Amino acid sequence: MAKGKAAPATKPLKPVSTTIVADEVLTDVLEKEKPRFVVDYDYYLQLLWEANPKLHQLLSESDSLEDARDSVFGYLERTERELFELDNELHILEKATVREAIRVFKSIIGPINEKRTSMSALDCLWRLARGKRSKLKRDVSVGFLTEFVNLFRAVAGRSNIYREHEEVKRGIPEFLRLEGRAAAVKRSEMLDDVAAMVHKYFTRYPSGLDKEVVAWRSENRERILRFFGGKPEDWEDYRWHLEHVITKPETVLQLIEVPAELREALRSAEKVRLPFGITPYYLSLMDRNPAIGFDHAVRAQVLPPLDYVNAMAEHRKERTSYFDFMGEHDTSPVDLITRRYPLICILKPYNTCSQICVYCQRNWEIDQCLDPKALAPEEEVNAAIEWIAARNGLGDILVTGGDPAVTGDDYLESLLDRLSAIDHIYRIRIGTRTPVVLPQRFTDKFSDLLAKYHKPGRREIAVVTHFIHSYEITPEACEAVQKLKRRGMSVYNQQVYTVENSRRFESAKLRRDLRTIGVDPYYVFNMKGKRETMRYMVPIARILQERKEEARLLPGLDRTDEPVFNVPKLGKNHLRAMQDHRLVMIMPDGSRVYEFHPWEKNLTPMPPYNYVDVPIYSYLEEMAARGENIQDYRTIWFYY
Ligand code: SF4
Repeated sequence: MAKGKAAPATKPLKPVSTTIVADEVLTDVLEKEKPRFVVDYDYYLQLLWEANPKLHQLLSESDSLEDARDSVFGYLERTERELFELDNELHILEKATVREAIRVFKSIIGPINEKRTSMSALDCLWRLARGKRSKLKRDVSVGFLTEFVNLFRAVAGRSNIYREHEEVKRGIPEFLRLEGRAAAVKRSEMLDDVAAMVHKYFTRYPSGLDKEVVAWRSENRERILRFFGGKPEDWEDYRWHLEHVITKPETVLQLIEVPAELREALRSAEKVRLPFGITPYYLSLMDRNPAIGFDHAVRAQVLPPLDYVNAMAEHRKERTSYFDFMGEHDTSPVDLITRRYPLICILKPYNTCSQICVYCQRNWEIDQCLDPKALAPEEEVNAAIEWIAARNGLGDILVTGGDPAVTGDDYLESLLDRLSAIDHIYRIRIGTRTPVVLPQRFTDKFSDLLAKYHKPGRREIAVVTHFIHSYEITPEACEAVQKLKRRGMSVYNQQVYTVENSRRFESAKLRRDLRTIGVDPYYVFNMKGKRETMRYMVPIARILQERKEEARLLPGLDRTDEPVFNVPKLGKNHLRAMQDHRLVMIMPDGSRVYEFHPWEKNLTPMPPYNYVDVPIYSYLEEMAARGENIQDYRTIWFYY
């Protein structure tokens, strides 16, 4: 409850051990043993009406849905106009929030958006306001109510975003009332506090370069070498790792401790022959005992949960259609090529990797880890290269797969020879996760091979990799990157934003650690809405919040990445470009529906894409289950 505010006139919360109160945008008592929120629906309803009594009145006094629509539209328009009045004393930043909220609210109650989503949030609000919950066409969840509690408040100018900042509330922060050195000292003191807060968060996310982590990983390494009968020098040899890639989930159980549910998932994965693979090196990044808790992202990357295993097994036969979320079938003009942009295309000559990521976008076409049949037939590769050669407009070729770094030196050399012979190609990108999962592969010989084609002024060779967490950044990964950098090549990172790296400042720490080893953050991807990997997904609002409230606090050279949503069939939508997406509906479960505009907007009249996000409420629930203080995330609702 906001300080000094009377308790709502409703029955008290049930005496449960885990409760949330939306007024504080969640959290009262959180107990790890009770990971899911238990809530009192009526209490939330009460909060909703208190959030904006005027809206409640208008809704409850409307005799029909269309009356309600007229009244609410009218109210929103009047409120917007009042923002421009001379005597409106709302803080100018709060006014900005009001404007945004009004824009969103109008969109949600627009009949056109009701038609496209087959849902009317307004109808639900209207019936609820008239006490007719039983007459709802679809019952709405607490996740739905919390969205509207916050939208109602935002429209009323009571988002309370700045509640800690009493000075801001008074209008002018103290340092602005001073001058010269005194002002600078005051401002610096304030910035010291913010810096201390950032560093406090950073300590929660150790990197693999930290001394203690290096020490306990050397024990892991010895244990794994012993298990496979290897010698210490084998660890430095990437071929040894490739020969000992763990492709049987059962083997993992002999090397690390795994909680019961995951053990069952691994056994099922083995039974249904799910593509599975972990390099011994990557396994050494996992703490033997999961209770340490730092390796969650590393584990989640390769150890499939049960629901994922079941979905993959269930749709095994039709997986090329069921799991092709990106519609790659529709953007491949010839075999092995994907093209969504004018100057770029993707060439995929190799269809597997040295380990298999659980949320791989290409899980529909990868059959098996290090599948001996994964190399495309020579005629197909030749035809794809000829296709590239025939298109002068193409300049940047992303060679990926699968992981091209796992193909042999000779194979890659021959491929690069042929691509480099094409005059109009000025950049070849190698998309590879090998610096993360098998950095030993970047020997001097292999790095020299890549450098041979890197000709400043003519053609660039760049490596694009995929670190997801600071815990993956190790001395070995650093050495691999440095080998490339010393030869003049750049290394970029594409991070996927998941529940595993989305806690406060977790990705900020990743960016900082990446820069210390010479990797430039390039993209942060919203996860694809692939049904089988829903449990990893983070709402778009959280990505926007992270960008504004966490990444923004880093020096500019650390936050060179762009948050994007790779819209199926269309390509990358820049999430920071507000004009390129808009929120159009809140669904009964609290998920937001967005209309995403294609990157070709203003160039070609491509149709937009409707995307149903994961509910913010569910995400916060997951964060609470992981021990997070949900109040840390309370402004998430105001990112659209
Ligand atoms: S490295 Fe890329 S292609 Fe390979 S399994 Fe992981 S996500 Fe898929």
